[in-house]
Amino acid sequence: MRHYVCTGECGTAFEEEGVCTSPDCSQNGQPREKCDCTDGYHGALLEEIDEETDPER
Ligand SMILES: [Zn+2]
Ligand SMILES: [Zn+2]
Repeated sequence: MRHYVCTGECGTAFEEEGVCTSPDCSQNGQPREKCDCTDGYHGALLEEIDEETDPER
């Protein structure tokens, strides 16, 4: 099932598109990322983010 995940500290998954609403999250107010995983780990999505933020690895 499609869902939308905040890629900040809160890592919350939402059923609807929107922005992160966690006040303490670095991605607060930023759009959630669309995800289609079925295991709840958002593997593909988080791997993508990792590569973007840590190109040396
Ligand atoms: Zn967040
Ligand atoms: Zn997911």
